[in-house]
Amino acid sequence: MAQTRHTKVLIIGSGPAGYTAAVYAARAMLQPLLIQGLQPGGQLTITTEVENWPGLKTVQGPNLMVEMEEHAREMGAEIIADYITALDLSKRPFTATADSGVTYTADAVILATGAQAKWLGLPSEEKFKGFGVSACATCDGFFYRGKDVAVIGGGNTAVEEALFLTNFASKVTLIHRRDSLRAEKILQNRLFKHPKVEVIWDSEVTEVLGGENPLGVEAVRVSNLKTGATHDLPVAGFFVAIGHAPSSELVADQLELHHGGYVKVEPGTTRTSIPGVFAAGDLTDHVYRQAVTSAGMGCMAALDAERWLAEQE
Ligand code: FAD
Ligand code: NAP
Repeated sequence: MAQTRHTKVLIIGSGPAGYTAAVYAARAMLQPLLIQGLQPGGQLTITTEVENWPGLKTVQGPNLMVEMEEHAREMGAEIIADYITALDLSKRPFTATADSGVTYTADAVILATGAQAKWLGLPSEEKFKGFGVSACATCDGFFYRGKDVAVIGGGNTAVEEALFLTNFASKVTLIHRRDSLRAEKILQNRLFKHPKVEVIWDSEVTEVLGGENPLGVEAVRVSNLKTGATHDLPVAGFFVAIGHAPSSELVADQLELHHGGYVKVEPGTTRTSIPGVFAAGDLTDHVYRQAVTSAGMGCMAALDAERWLAEQE
């Protein structure tokens, strides 16, 4: 028989927002359940050094997330390795259906499902995904030892991915659609100084080119947006780092969204358009999208949920 579990506070997501919400909700004696999802620890598990988590001059992203998980667990949160496939926010208690077959009912829900990598949307990109096209240099960089690779994007992720790839690749070409990067200046300085890095400005990639047998990337077609000139850049790997989109699929037709899919919250709070449902972290933040701001919003969500639950009693 399918199992049903009830909780006062259900936290969906295990990034900095989810784990921080869990720490605060547990300390408020709300005995929260946190569902980790397919990426336990969230986005920081696919990076290396994190240099802007206050109090730690540098920390490996995956280690930081293991510490956060242990912290939440030790405070009394129950951390569950499962994935929510459907969420019904139309009536209380709210109902979440999990991949395991368990149904969770909850008096309050904290959504902390974060964001995931965006893709260019080219058919050839799709064809070579996993065969030379990647959105995670820390996961796949090792395969490009001694080879030439390209990264597309101009934000922090693209620059960090490009710098990380210099540990393996013989040459890293960063391709950006404008003539300036939006990455932090400290990262830009490191990039421009690196002897293995070249930047192609004002350009887009229109096609990924490769062989069929074995399936693998051999080049990317680069088109200059100002002159229209096109050339094929030989590379064995192509890393897409053009930003992240909020993971709001579970609530897209139930909550108010804005700015292309981010969950809308009342300014200065984590309250969504449905009372008892709170949202924190990258899921709701189209502006800052940092680990520390996500953690801050996780804290706010737990405090907002605690107050709202107290008002219901
Ligand atoms: P995420 O970290 O995105 O976590 C989302 C969580 O939700 C995941 O655990 C996922 O499994 C879960 N989830 C999703 N859907 C479901 C579902 N249906 N059911 C259950 N669970 C679900 N920020 C910094 O401040 N400093 C950095 O150095 C830094 N480096 C970065 C490097 C890279 C490569 C990337 C991609 C991002 C980096 N960021 C950095 C940004 C930072 O990682 C994010 O701002 C932060 O992780 C957002 O936290 P979050 O808790 O909102 O969500
Ligand atoms: P981002 O800041 O949104 O940057 C995305 C980049 O990709 C931009 O340069 C954008 O170009 C480009 N781009 C977008 N769509 C494109 C397309 N279709 N084709 C070509 N280029 C495209 O995303 P991000 O770099 O992934 O960073 C996400 C958030 O995580 C940010 O808030 C960032 O600060 C944070 N983060 C922080 C760190 C850190 O603190 N060290 C590290 C990684 C990420 P334009 O510039 O022209 O818009």
